[in-house]
Amino acid sequence: MNEHQTLDLRSPWVISIHELVRRPGELKEFHREIPAPANVGIEMIGVPEGSPVDVDLRLESVSEGVLATGVVSAELVGECSRCLGEVREERDFDLQELYYYPGRDAEEDALFVVDEYIDLDPPMRDAIVLELPFTPLCREDCLGLCPICGFNLNDDPEHNHGEQIDPRWEGLELFKAD
Ligand SMILES: [Zn+2]
Ligand SMILES: [Zn+2]
Repeated sequence: MNEHQTLDLRSPWVISIHELVRRPGELKEFHREIPAPANVGIEMIGVPEGSPVDVDLRLESVSEGVLATGVVSAELVGECSRCLGEVREERDFDLQELYYYPGRDAEEDALFVVDEYIDLDPPMRDAIVLELPFTPLCREDCLGLCPICGFNLNDDPEHNHGEQIDPRWEGLELFKAD
């Protein structure tokens, strides 16, 4: 990213901050439900494309640019790492990003105000993806699958296969039963 970046104005994540530009001290509450773009997530869990992300931000004009602070909320959908069942969880994620005015000294990966617009997509993505669990669970005490037959142990914690008989002794057992 650099200060000559262009924004895709068709993206619902690109918003106008017209009334804040170069007016330090001005504040604007921003609250909107925006559909999730593609690929917000990791392999096991993420926010399905098109599902609503609730964006609740305070946009503040500061001397270097515009500061966005707030919370994005989304429903995560994924796969339990123990039982492979579905994981669904509504979560809040903290977001904070300073959008610099062009020409300001900013870090390599800084975001900029572009023609009175800012793009909320990158900080939303970071806020969510960095917080995702690497081993999602359908519930804290998920029992997982039976190692012998793959049965979901959450459906019946009593599930078992009786005493395991070493196949080498199976003939002997039959013999005894006679
Ligand atoms: Zn599970
Ligand atoms: Zn089993």
